Parts: sequence; structure tokens; C-alpha cells
Amino acid sequence: MQEITIKDYLSENGIRPMNKRVKVMNYLVSKRNHPTAEMIYLELVNEITGLSKTTIYNTLNLFVQEGVARALNIDSNELRYDADISQHGHFKCKECGEVFDFSLNKELLEDLRLKNFVLDDYQFSIKGVCSICLKGKSV
Ligand SMILES: [Zn+2]
Ligand SMILES: [Zn+2]
Repeated sequence: MQEITIKDYLSENGIRPMNKRVKVMNYLVSKRNHPTAEMIYLELVNEITGLSKTTIYNTLNLFVQEGVARALNIDSNELRYDADISQHGHFKCKECGEVFDFSLNKELLEDLRLKNFVLDDYQFSIKGVCSICLKGKSV
């Protein structure tokens, strides 16, 4: 997504596209790395003068509130953010800390005996060791 499109996207969702907000959203959609607020701050602090952690937190809260991002509590000690608001699950690697997306299709949810249920907020997460870390171990 280009920054101009991000501006439109934010506007369409009732968020005034201020520069800092556009930068944070751009970070989320381009990196797709499910960052913590801290990670976003460290990345953008050199790019935006006078950026504070509070601004990052406020921006992320606003995004979640307006439905353009999701806050993921995969671990109880940290919140991670995702601009992909489609239905999907997360796998967190306990070795590298990376968070991977996986699809959560209708059939799987029906397997979970949730057929004909209305699902509003699905935080579906699995923890383990990713294939990249497993490969590194066997070498
Ligand atoms: Zn890993
Ligand atoms: Zn995700």
C-alpha cells in the first residue's frame, strides 16, 4: 500500500490521516511482522522528529478502536499489532519470537464445533518452534 492509499484508507475509516498515523500504518502494512509498540517506536523514532512512545500507543489504540488493526495478546506480557484484519491465526516461535500468520478457514472453525456461531473477535494462537529455527538446530 502506498502512503497516499494509506491516507485514503485511514480517512475512509474515520481516522484523520496525520503524518505520524500514516507512518505507523505504513509500517504495519509493509512489514507485516506483528510488531510490539516498542518495535514500531524504535523503527520510526529516527524518521519522525519528536515522536514519543505515547504517540505510538495512542495511534495503535485508535487503529484498534476504529477497526483498521488488531491487538494480539499472544503472550500475556506483550501486545502485538496486526493491520491484517482478516480472519487468521497466529503462530509464535518461542525461539526467534517471530509471529507467523496461518489461515483459519470455515471448515476448521466448524471442526471446533462453532458451526452457526457468530465470531466477533478471534484470537487464535499457537506457540512452538518455527521451521526456520528447527532447521538451524539440525545443522
Ligand atoms: Zn523461529
Ligand atoms: Zn497476522
